[in-house]
This record gives sequence, C-alpha cells and structure tokens, in this order.
Amino acid sequence: MGIAQTTSNVSVSSSFSIHGIGVSSGIAIGRAHLVSNALLEVVHYVLPAHLVDDEITRFSEAINTVKKDLETIQFQLSKNAPAEISAFINTHLMMLADKSLSEKPKDIIRTEQCNAEWAIKQQMDDIVEQFEAIEDEYLRERKQDVVQVVERVIKSLLGHPNQASIQQSVKQQENNIILVAHDISPADAIQFKQHHFAAFITDVGGVTSHTAILARSLNIPSIVALQRARDLIDDNELIIVDGSLGVVIVNPSKEILAEYKLRQDQWELEQQKLQRIKSTKAVTICGTAIELQANIEVPEDIIAVKAAGATGIGLYRTEFLFMNKREMPDEEEQFLAYKQVAEAMKGMPVTIRTLDLGADKQVNPDTVSNCTNPALGLRAVRLCLSEPQIFHTQLRALLRASHYGHIKILIPMLSTLSELRQTKILLERAKASLRKKNIPFDENIALGGMIEVPAAAINAEAFAKELDFMSIGTNDLIQYTLAIDRTDDAVAHLYNALHPSVLKLISMTIKAGAKLGKSVAVCGEMAGDAKLTKLLIGMGLRQLSMHPSNILSVKQQVLHSQISQLNANANKVLSYTDLEKIELMVAKFNL
Ligand code: PEP
Ligand code: MG
Repeated sequence: MGIAQTTSNVSVSSSFSIHGIGVSSGIAIGRAHLVSNALLEVVHYVLPAHLVDDEITRFSEAINTVKKDLETIQFQLSKNAPAEISAFINTHLMMLADKSLSEKPKDIIRTEQCNAEWAIKQQMDDIVEQFEAIEDEYLRERKQDVVQVVERVIKSLLGHPNQASIQQSVKQQENNIILVAHDISPADAIQFKQHHFAAFITDVGGVTSHTAILARSLNIPSIVALQRARDLIDDNELIIVDGSLGVVIVNPSKEILAEYKLRQDQWELEQQKLQRIKSTKAVTICGTAIELQANIEVPEDIIAVKAAGATGIGLYRTEFLFMNKREMPDEEEQFLAYKQVAEAMKGMPVTIRTLDLGADKQVNPDTVSNCTNPALGLRAVRLCLSEPQIFHTQLRALLRASHYGHIKILIPMLSTLSELRQTKILLERAKASLRKKNIPFDENIALGGMIEVPAAAINAEAFAKELDFMSIGTNDLIQYTLAIDRTDDAVAHLYNALHPSVLKLISMTIKAGAKLGKSVAVCGEMAGDAKLTKLLIGMGLRQLSMHPSNILSVKQQVLHSQISQLNANANKVLSYTDLEKIELMVAKFNL
C-alpha cells in the first residue's frame, strides 16, 4: 500500500494525499513533526590502529547510555500505561543485551578498524536480513525492534539527544503535533503520549506492528505502511490524518481543511454522545437483547473492556501471551493470566480461545517452518493436537482458572469433527488429571468452536451437535472463502465481508445453531463494524464480540434496530448473488 497519490505536483505548497493502512480511527489535523532517522546519517571511516580501543570504549558507553535510558523509561511508566509498552521496552532491553548487538560490533570495529556507528549498522543489516527471511508476519515485523534499538545506539554515538529534541519542540509548539516517522519505537511512543501527540503515521508497519498495537491502545488516529511519508512531507507542514480511511492529506486546501475540521468536530461530538449510552442495555426497539462483548489480547485490556460497558469477553486471543515471550509461558503463568480476567469480569462470560499459533505465528524464530502456504499449514487446533503437551498445559490452566469465574473454552480453526473429538478427549484427560489432585474447576465448562473455515460452516449442523456454542471468525472465514491472504496488501481490495458466498456461510452457521439450540456469535472484525450491525442482527445474530472501542457505536445501531424490519432486509440481501447490489442494499440499511 501507500505509494503517494498526488492530485498535483508534489512541491512544498501543493496539496496531495498519501494512502496507507489506517490502524486506529479518528481524525487529526496538525503540524508534521519529522522524527529523524539516525541510520541515514551513518558514515564510514577507517580508524588508525591506536584508536581502535577508544572506539570500542565509545561503543560500550553508548550501549550503557541506551540501556539506562530504556530502564529510566521503564521505571517512569505509570501504572496505567498499556502493558504492551512495558513488554516492548523489555524486548528492546533484551535485544540490547544480546551479544549480537552488544559484542559483535566490537569484533567488527577491531577487524575492520571502522567507526562504531558503521559497525553496529553493519551488524543490524545482517540481523535484519535474517528476520526478512522469516515467513511469519508478526515475527518478521520484529526486525523493526532491532532497527529501533540500533537507531537509539547510533543517536547516542552521534551525540543526538534521544528524546530531548522532540520533547523540546513539542513543548515549544501549542498546535497539535503529528509524528511522521519511518517507524516509531514503543519506548518513544510512551514519551510522546505524555506530550499529547495528535496522531502518528509511519512509512512501515502492518496491522500487527508494534506501532499499530500501540496506536490502538492509546486511542489516537494512526496510519502505517505509507511507505514514503517521511520523504514527501516536510517538517511543520500542515497535515490531516484520517485514521478511518488510512489517508493523509498534506497541505490541504482551505476547502478540504474546512471540510475536515467539520468532520473532526462531528467525530468528537459522536464520541462524546456515544458515552451517554455506556450503561444503556443493548436492546432493540422491539425489546430483543443483543450481547455486546469484547475481544482482548492481554489481561490488561480489561480496563478498556470495563470502560466500554461490555457484557463479557467473546474472544480472548491467548497466543498474544505466548508471542511476546522468549519462552512458552508455563501452566502457572497461564493460569494466573486467565484467572485475572475471569475474576475481573465478575461472573460475566469470558471466552478464552486456545492457542491460535501456527506456521504463520511461531513463538520461536528458530522453529519457523518453510511452509509455502502458512495460512493453510499447521496452525491453531491442528498445531495443538500435534503438540499434545502444549495443549494439555493450556487446558489445565484454563480449567483451573474456571474455578474463579465464568470461563468458556473456544477452539480455533476447526475443519473436521475428528479435531473436535480429539480435543474433547484431551480436555477430559486434563480434567481427570485435576480431579486426581483434587484441584477444583468448573465441571460444566462450555466448549465452543470457531467457525472460520468454510468446511466448518458448510458442516455447521454437525459441529453444533457436538459443541456447546459457536463463534464465527469472519477474518479467517473471508480469507479462506475468497482465497485472499488477509496479510497481503496486494489483494486487500478483494477482501470483502459482503461477498455473497461469505454471507451464505455465515447464514448457514446461524441457522445450524438455531436448529440445535446452540448460541452463535461473531468475533471477527465484522462484529465491530457498525455499518454491518443491522445486517448481522437481521441474519439472526444476538451476540457480537469486538474491540472495546467499537462497542458503543455498535450499541447505537442496536438501539435503532427493529428486528422484523432487519429480518426482511437481511433475507433480501441473502437472495442477491451480486456483490454490488448487496453493498447498495446494506448502505441503505444505515440511512
Ligand atoms: C477471525 O478469524 O475472525 C478471528 C476472530 O480470529 P483471528 O483474527 O485471531 O484469526
Ligand atoms: Mg481466525
């Protein structure tokens, strides 16, 4: 994504727009603040032999300075800071302590008699090259962490104050500041937060990049993957960031600026208005209750869940607990995390999904497979069944935590009944191991399955017979139905939730659940898209799980829904075979 699309020539004063991936909604209007890229300033020079030792000392001092900087930031983190930030800083500290960054450059300085900046840059390029060979998108993006850490060391070597210059300029400016960076490290982001940046935009990153994760947790508009924003935008230029559309408008004309100011006011007004319905029950005009639950990745997300007034957790993606670690969390660590969420939700349902790791989401870079179609490989329940010890540990942790709240277990990526039956055997085994030791757990714990593979949707009745509940994972269901890699920018324009085949599979699943008296939820991104709420309710859904920040806008749609009307509309939509017609009809729902 993201090649600049100019409406006129790109010059200092002309207006143009750049397109990227909007990862956090909202509109910001402000002045660009370009974050320097120290890496571009690195030059190479050869040292006389007698200065090599001094250069190595200079390098060690820079490493120590950066270590102290990071530890200070870590120490100063407020208790309310998103947990991801602390985890990111830890990752950076670990990288800094790794011999490949703290020792290897010394060898390079010694053997090549070169300057320290050049040595660490060489080493970084080597490491980045290794990361680039990794197929897993999440892990591949971790190369940005290496770059960010090295950038800090280089800034220190070059005598750049790491944050001071940015903070200083922020203090001097009263206008909204929009950070324009090649990438932004989490450690920087927490500092930026204290100075009330209006938005940040970056050249690199995907929806799972640290920048995206942070932007969402800090709730400020953000766009990533703009590719050349740093080249095209000048410092202090006026820019508009439309996080919902993923568009940056540089040097907007008076008219565009006025239009966006209006949109921004409207957006803020809408957000304020939405707060009024925070404690209102999500019930349609005709009195039907709709469960609006939240998706979370880490226990700390509970704060946002509570603030949004969610009535439960519809999806707890436990792989995040594994992916941010160098080592697999053991049973106790998992138990404590699940228990914390269960207790915090005070009896409300907490649906915990078992590991959705796999060929495209490995815990350890060394175990990355060379699978050519990672999304079709050994992931989720397939992986868990092939690694029964990992599965057993997680099932035991989940069962133990079930004693402390209302936990439900959700199995991802089921495609055959035998996977479900094997899972049940393993669950029984885990239960038996706890009974033997008199460890309490919920004997009636519900077992649900994700319907996210077309094979499962088509065979939903059979799954419904053997499951306690179902949850439709539309993100993967769309990917697998339309044969579109959800991580591939090049085919992103073909990824469409309203494709008639996708809607048919969702409808088949809902009907199967209704026939067998099993509840059906949607926990993919579709559930949080307020433009689709009326369609989903019309199709028969009564439970939606989404990112906490979407709950109020979806609730607003629920409050304006009349079931009989929506059923009729949805039936019409389902009779269409033409995507364009469906899109038109769904747009009309929301008029
Ligand atoms: C989905 O596929 O819709 C889903 C909720 O799971 P994930 O996005 O974690 O794959
Ligand atoms: Mg999925």
